[in-house]
Amino acid sequence: MCGIVGYIGSQQAYPILIEGLKRLEYRGYDSAGVALQNGKIHVYKKRGKVVELENFVGDAGVNATVGMGHTRWATHGEPSDLNSHPHSSRSGKFALIHNGIIENYAVLKEKLSRHGYTFESATDTEVLVQLIDFFSNEGAHNAEEAVRLALHEVVGAYGIVVMASDEPDQLIVARKGSPIVLGIGEGEYIVASDAAPIIAYTKDVIYLEEEGMAILRKDGYEIKTIGNIPRTPLLERIEMELETIEKGGYDYFMLKEIMEQPRSIAESIRGRVNKDNGVVWLGGLVDVQDRLRNARRVIFVACGTSWHAGLVAEYLFEDFARIPVEVEYASEFRYRNPIIYPDDVVIAISQSGETADTLAAIQLAKEAGALVMGVVNVVGSSIARGTEAGVYIHAGPEIGVASTKAFTSQVTVLTLMAVYIAQLRGTATPEMRSAMKELLNVPALVEKILESNDYIHSIAEEFRDATNFLYLGRGLNFPVALEGALKLKEISYIHAEGYPAAEMKHGPIALIDANMPVMFIATKDESYDKIVSNLQEVVTRGGRVIAVVSEGDTNIRDLAEFVIEVPQTNPLLTPLLTVIPQQLLSYHIAMMRGCDVDQPRNLAKSVTVE
Ligand code: GLU
Repeated sequence: MCGIVGYIGSQQAYPILIEGLKRLEYRGYDSAGVALQNGKIHVYKKRGKVVELENFVGDAGVNATVGMGHTRWATHGEPSDLNSHPHSSRSGKFALIHNGIIENYAVLKEKLSRHGYTFESATDTEVLVQLIDFFSNEGAHNAEEAVRLALHEVVGAYGIVVMASDEPDQLIVARKGSPIVLGIGEGEYIVASDAAPIIAYTKDVIYLEEEGMAILRKDGYEIKTIGNIPRTPLLERIEMELETIEKGGYDYFMLKEIMEQPRSIAESIRGRVNKDNGVVWLGGLVDVQDRLRNARRVIFVACGTSWHAGLVAEYLFEDFARIPVEVEYASEFRYRNPIIYPDDVVIAISQSGETADTLAAIQLAKEAGALVMGVVNVVGSSIARGTEAGVYIHAGPEIGVASTKAFTSQVTVLTLMAVYIAQLRGTATPEMRSAMKELLNVPALVEKILESNDYIHSIAEEFRDATNFLYLGRGLNFPVALEGALKLKEISYIHAEGYPAAEMKHGPIALIDANMPVMFIATKDESYDKIVSNLQEVVTRGGRVIAVVSEGDTNIRDLAEFVIEVPQTNPLLTPLLTVIPQQLLSYHIAMMRGCDVDQPRNLAKSVTVE
C-alpha cells in the first residue's frame, strides 16, 4: 500500500512532491523516491523515510516543473535503494511509480527476459516499466499507447504514474484496484493516492474511476478508460480539512484500519484462490512443497494477537491437512528446551516481522533443523528474511497499536495455507474448495458487519463504565473470545478475560452477577446448542449478555440483552466475521473513556524487546 504523487504545472515540482510524500507516509515508509523531468528524467531514491530522501537529495535536485514521487510499503522485494520507486526502463526512456501488485509479474518477466531485458530490482513494478518499454519498441505510436498495451497484459492491482523522456510535458496515470485522485488546479495538476497532497493547492478533484486513465499535460487533461474510451469526469469539491484526510476521514488510525478490512482481506486473498475451482496457490511455499507434504507436525510461534490467529489456524490445519499442530507463545517456547524434530514445520506469525521473542524462537527451530516459515505483514522484515519460506499477509501498514486488520489478514492467509497444505497432502475435499470460493465473498460480508457500527456504539454506551468483562466462545470462536478480551484490555484498560465457553462452569461462573457483562460468540455451528446452554446459565445468574450471532437467530435474541448479527457463511470462516464487532465495541468503549486508542499506555506497535 504505497503512496504516489505527481505534479505538472508551472511551480517547482520537487518541494510539492516531498510535502505530498510526507502526507502519504502513513501508507508506507520503507523507501521514498522522486523522478523529475526537464528534458531528461532524473531519479532520486533512498531506503527509509521521506526525510532520508530529502537528506540524500540535498541541493542536488534539478529544476523541474514536472515530477512524481513514491513512498513505498514493500510487497515484492525487500526495502532497499534498488527496490525503491520510481523504476526506470532499461533504455531510460520510461520511469514509473506504482501502488499495488502485478500478480503475473513472473510470467511477464520471463517473457521480457526472452527478449533480452534484464532487471536490477526484485520488484513486480520494474517488470511493468520494462513491459511498457517493450511495447514502445514494438511500434506503439506514443507513450500512452505503450502504457495501454502493457496494462492489457497485467493481472493485478495498480495505481501508476508514468513519465516518458521524449514526451516531457506529460504524466500518464492509470488505476485498477488502487486509488487515484486528480487535483485540478489553475494551469497545474496534482495526482495522488489520496487527497492529502492535493488539498493545499486545489479543492477541485476527480476520483479516477476503476480501470480509468488520465493524461495530464500543462495545457489540459484527458480522462478515458484503459480501453481508450473517453469519459466525462465528475469534478468534485473537497470540503474536508487536511488532518481529517490523512486518516482517511477517521479520527483515529485504529478506526480507519477496522473500516478498511474489506479491502485488506481482499488484498490477502488476491491472486491466491482460483475463483472457478477454489484451488489455492501460494507462490511463497512452492519451494518447500516436499517438506510440507512430509511434515510430522506444525508448531506456530507467536505473541499477542498473532498467537490468537495461530489458535484459529490450529483448528483449520488439523481439520484440513490432518496434521498435528501446537500453538506456542514464542517467549515460553524458546526458554523451555522444547523438542523440535527436523521434519517439524515451525511457522512464525508476526505483523511487524520484528517481534524479538518470535525471532529468537525461530532461531531455535532452525538450529534443530526444522523447516521455518513466516506469516508476516512487513516485507523484508527480520522474520521475512530469516525464514526459508512464507506468505505475506499484505494488509498494508498497520499504525494503530491495537492490531485489527493484521489479525483478519493473518487468519485469511492461515486459512489459505491450511487448504494449500491439504492439497499437497491429498486431504483436500470439495467442501474446502467451496469454502475457498466463499472466502472470496468475505470482504463483502465484513462490509455488511461494519454497517452495525452505530448499533455497536450504542451497546458501548451501556458498558462504558464496566470494570470487568468476560468473553466466551467455542471452537473457532474461542480464539475470537481471547482476541475480543485482549482488544478491550489494551485500549480501554478494562479487565477482560476470554474463556472457552464450556470452561466457564469450572471457575469463571463464580464471577457472574448483575455487574458482569458477558460477550458470547455464538454463531450457528456444531457447538451452537451447547453454547446456547452456557448463555442460558449466565442469564439465569443475572449476568448481562451481549451475543454475536448468525443473522436471523431468533433463539438467542430472546435470551440476550444485546444481539449483534453477522451474515451466514461457511462456519470455518466465521472468525473473520465475529471478530469485527469485538474490535468496534472495544474502540467505542475506549473512546468513551477518553483513552488514546492509537497509542495506548505502556504499549508499542512492534515489540522488539524480549
Ligand atoms: N508491489 C510494489 C512494490 O513492492 C508496490 C507496493 C505497494 O503498493 O504496496 O514495490
